[in-house]
Amino acid sequence: MSSANTGAPQGTGTTSIGSTRVQASEYICADCAALNEVRPREPIRCRECGHRVLYKQRTKRMLHFEAR
Ligand SMILES: [Zn+2]
Repeated sequence: MSSANTGAPQGTGTTSIGSTRVQASEYICADCAALNEVRPREPIRCRECGHRVLYKQRTKRMLHFEAR
């Protein structure tokens, strides 16, 4: 699959696949820093370690470069 899609809310007129309007928010675990997708109705909890303190991640525009 292509990975060059930015996933912008309103960019090109292309409608992305998926009719579910419920968007899962991305949270980062405060303990193991794992990325968790938490839906509004689901309890905030890390899937990896079970930690309950998660930081809400902002937009995906948050560039995170890792040194190679
Ligand atoms: Zn965790």
